[in-house]
Amino acid sequence: MSLSLSRRAALTVQSEIRVMSLECENVKGINLAQGVCDTEVPEPVRTAAKRAIDGGINSYTRAEGLAPIREAIADKMKRFNGIECDPNTEVIAHSGSTGAFYASCLALLNPGDEVILFEPFYGYHLNTLIAVEAVPAFVTLRAPDWKFTPEDLERAVTPRTRAIMINTPGNPSGKVFTREELEWIAAFAIKHDLFVFTDEIYEYFIYEGRHISPATLPGMWERTITISGYSKTFSITGWRVGYTVCHRKWAQAMAYFHDLVYVCAPAPLQIGVAEGIRQLPESFYQEISREYVQKRDQLCSVLKEVGLTPSVPKGAYYVLADAGILGGKTSKEKSMTLLRETGVASVAGSAFYHGGGGENLIRFCFAKTETELDEACKRLRALPNRLGKQTTASHSR
Ligand code: PLP
Repeated sequence: MSLSLSRRAALTVQSEIRVMSLECENVKGINLAQGVCDTEVPEPVRTAAKRAIDGGINSYTRAEGLAPIREAIADKMKRFNGIECDPNTEVIAHSGSTGAFYASCLALLNPGDEVILFEPFYGYHLNTLIAVEAVPAFVTLRAPDWKFTPEDLERAVTPRTRAIMINTPGNPSGKVFTREELEWIAAFAIKHDLFVFTDEIYEYFIYEGRHISPATLPGMWERTITISGYSKTFSITGWRVGYTVCHRKWAQAMAYFHDLVYVCAPAPLQIGVAEGIRQLPESFYQEISREYVQKRDQLCSVLKEVGLTPSVPKGAYYVLADAGILGGKTSKEKSMTLLRETGVASVAGSAFYHGGGGENLIRFCFAKTETELDEACKRLRALPNRLGKQTTASHSR
């Protein structure tokens, strides 16, 4: 038999985050590898979704989603992001921001098109590009502040470059792109006539600086595909409700591809999200930052204390830490050492870099309940002792 998987399938690998989550389960550890916070779903969101189910909103919807969610998103884009868009032609409700990015790539990229990704990157961004046979080109952000220069961008561009991807606030770095950096990217995108994909799923998780949507910069609206969703903000990762906002020139084809792959985002859950956006007060969103900045500070201070020096994130809910003190040659071995010695799971830094980068880094997620985070911090505090014993044991051998 000469059947084989597609070339595409051979190029993608199982997510390192899932692999570590399994390893963690095996040792009954605390999973700081995966980013799921089980905080309560806001009441208006739950109630409206239940009412929608009972009220019979259970069928396919238009590919671009039901009117109430598109209208709620358009209103929120104006209030929060400063983007004016038409809910009828420039907003699409998608199956999560993951579905949103995939549909955008299918609609806007040709096989062989190059797309610039900042690294450390979010693995799904890379793998989605590979799945549509686009070619990633990398601009490496410099730790600990995850800086880059306009020259870095120019070095990555070729005649085949078609788009650049931004993730602000970013996973895994926690980088919040500054206005100056976004202006560099805007000038670069205009000069080389590029699309800009921007994943803003963590837009409400900001601890320093402020969230700026790239589409609001002069000359950017027509070329920018703004992607976001409510998985994180409303703690509904399993609901699969996200969206894109973009110029009407692109929206129809994106809705078409979303229809082809997913048909539509779940109908009653679109209504739940729409009502959440409509009803929840400003203070709900402010509370997110307050709650998470405490979690960030709690974890970062323990990491500092035990010698896993963190790069303190300005947004999102991940920390990249220097894993130099842990045994092992690769970041995978280092994260396994940490799991073995403390029962705390992290993700190897190499999962966020191409071609051998990130080997001295591991990533922690602090989107955890207070109890879990307290326990993780307690276990991490034992690390110096555990490593000390290990050194003594190997010396005496
Ligand atoms: N984008 C980034 C940067 C993420 O970190 C995640 C989840 O971890 C997602 C998108 C997934 O979002 P969604 O649930 O809306 O597909």
